[in-house]
This record gives sequence, structure tokens and C-alpha cells, in this order.
Amino acid sequence: MPQLDAVRASMLGCVRCRALVRCRSRVVPGSGDAPARVMFVGIAPGRFGGDRTGVPFSGDRSGAMLRRMIERSGLSRVFITNLVRCSPRDARGRNRDPSSIEIANCRSHVDAEIALVRPRIIACLGRLAWRELAGRDAPFKPERPAPLMRDGAIIYPMYHPGYVIRGALSERSYARQFRRLAHIVAGAKDASIRADTPD
Ligand code: SF4
Repeated sequence: MPQLDAVRASMLGCVRCRALVRCRSRVVPGSGDAPARVMFVGIAPGRFGGDRTGVPFSGDRSGAMLRRMIERSGLSRVFITNLVRCSPRDARGRNRDPSSIEIANCRSHVDAEIALVRPRIIACLGRLAWRELAGRDAPFKPERPAPLMRDGAIIYPMYHPGYVIRGALSERSYARQFRRLAHIVAGAKDASIRADTPD
């Protein structure tokens, strides 16, 4: 999509976050189908993943887990992105969460992707993505999800795949969350929530 290519190009030279400009290897825009049925929004490119490959959720264990779950659940037409496009590091070079200022700095990039990708469902991978897109008052409960509508899209809470990699959630339970998501996607398709999104 030419508009998305233009948005990606505009992100590549972004220097809004001084600390991230110093520690990133590259800017990592979202990637996938456009338009899409589902947009997955994580936190930030990982140092062994997107920061190395240039593609969100690729090249590391979290990315492999997410992509395996998408494939197993039969989801198609997906777009994958993050709250921030540059890999945040702590003083020892390890992954850290982005600050609220860094998330705010990058928000316009996320919004530009959402506007062009026009997902029926935005699946928030982890509490940070959920709080940013659903609002601070919305409880984060992926086990008993309470999706919200925002600007015509369903905002849906899910655990970040890193949670499964760390052993805090079984792969079986995570697969169940993805089956539930696929079920909702099918319902959204029937209801034509985004009637102009091609199948
Ligand atoms: S995280 Fe986003 S806003 Fe910050 S420098 Fe990278 S692209 Fe720009």
C-alpha cells in the first residue's frame, strides 16, 4: 500500500526519543497485511528480534511464539506492530519497557498505522499496550477478556508472548486465548464491523 510505505519512510528518520536513538540499531515499523482483520500491538522491538531483523516479532523466541499461535489459530490478514518502534535498553544493554514519554512520542506512528490498516480487532499484547489503547481505567484481564470498542475497532487484551516464554503462562492456555480471538474475528466478520475491509 503506497500510503503505508510513505508512513514507514517517514518513521525511519524519527529522532523524537533521544535515548532510543542512541541505543537502537534501526527503526522498526509495523509489518503485515493492509488492510488487516487483526492488528497485534506489542511493546517495542526486542534486542534479539526486531532490532536485529527490522521486522516486529521476528528472529527471537517471542516472535516465533506469536507467529506459531497465529498460524495454529488459523488467523489470516494480520498486521504486527509495537507501541514504540525503537528498542529501549537499560544501562546494561538489556531490554526495558519504554517510558510513558517514549510511548507518547511514538503514538502518532501507531495511530497512522491503525488509520491505514483499518483492523477490525486490535489485539494488545500485554498490559502496556492495553493501557495505552484501551485506557488506564480498563482492567487488563486476558483470561476473562472484556473487549472495548474504540473508533470502530474492537480493542482486545492478550498476554505478551514473552509471558509464555518466561513460563508464567502455559502454551496450551495461550493457544486457547488465540482460539478465542479467532472466534471473535469470525463474529466481527459476520457483523461487518469494518464492512470495507476485503476478505
Ligand atoms: S520510539 Fe518512535 S517516537 Fe521514539 S524515536 Fe523511535 S520512532 Fe521516533
